Amino acid sequence: MQHLKFSVQLIRWQRAHGRHQLPWQNTIDPYAIWLSEIMLQQTRVITVIPYYLRFLRCYPDVKSLSLASLDEVLALWSGLGYYSRGRNLHKTACLIVSDYHGKFPRKIELIQQLPGIGRSTAAAIVVFAYGKRCAILDGNVKRVLARHFGVEGYPGEKKTEALLWKKAEELLPKNNVKGNIKAYSQALMDLGATICTRTKPKCVVCPIQRECVAFQEHREDKLPIPRPYKPLVIKETVMLMIMRRDEILLERRPPMGIWGGLWCLPEIPTSVNISLYCAQRFGIKIKLLCHIPSIDHAFTHFKLRIYPRSLKVVSQVSAISQSGQKWTSFNGALEMGIPTPVRNLLNSNYSYR
Ligand code: SF4
Repeated sequence: MQHLKFSVQLIRWQRAHGRHQLPWQNTIDPYAIWLSEIMLQQTRVITVIPYYLRFLRCYPDVKSLSLASLDEVLALWSGLGYYSRGRNLHKTACLIVSDYHGKFPRKIELIQQLPGIGRSTAAAIVVFAYGKRCAILDGNVKRVLARHFGVEGYPGEKKTEALLWKKAEELLPKNNVKGNIKAYSQALMDLGATICTRTKPKCVVCPIQRECVAFQEHREDKLPIPRPYKPLVIKETVMLMIMRRDEILLERRPPMGIWGGLWCLPEIPTSVNISLYCAQRFGIKIKLLCHIPSIDHAFTHFKLRIYPRSLKVVSQVSAISQSGQKWTSFNGALEMGIPTPVRNLLNSNYSYR
């Protein structure tokens, strides 16, 4: 009975107070829904909207995305972070064209096997595109359920996550008339994004406040249990801004690992001699233009401390040219798929000193 009430209350609330005009709503196109779900992972709605609209304008369907080069896709993704999402998006589009004749599969089991699509994303696609009765459990939903049912344990742990999945499935509306399942799933997402927020949840206007364990016990700020504390490791690197007239040297990163497949400034460990490295690797003699303050860039599991060095080519000693390297204008570089710290450096005054 409690479960029945939960979904009824949420559906009613969503219809009256939920979000209805996000660009990826009011469509049953699995491609558009998939794109929005991937972009929204670990990223706020406000950030996603311009990227989503631009992406859809360039690649309106699976086929057009599959025909794009990975470089073009990553250039459009540039600045959104978590670049493996962009790479997987491209890989999946190619797979759908080659294995499913360009049609998005309908079965959740098949969707879940595609690169970059987890259980919750697959469920959201079949709910919103096909109206299927499936449970979603993204970060926002985990927070709502953990608070509402007083679930102890960090949701990233297998045991706690399994418990939350069980809850999510039990809570699904029993019938799927009048688009109930879509309204219910949207309600959970909307509640997590607008009411049961990570900090300062608006419990006063929450439709499921009466039965909420966290609210009853004044533990909204204690649940869900946070990730066990681990000091953030700091890694260090030197980024070389090597300039030749009005061009800068970029290198493509290996396909896997951080910023995989993106164009980046050449990097060396802090212990390496810059002049010797440039001579041996690029066949150039360089002059140090100026020292630039270090920049910290946060990843989920570590912090990258970047020491940028602004360098000018004095002479070409030998002609060493390797694939995966490119001399390009600053404007050209800014059009490419480059990570945010590199973009910031290119936009800084240091680039021209
Ligand atoms: S009452 Fe507060 S803590 Fe409980 S679900 Fe609603 S917003 Fe979240």
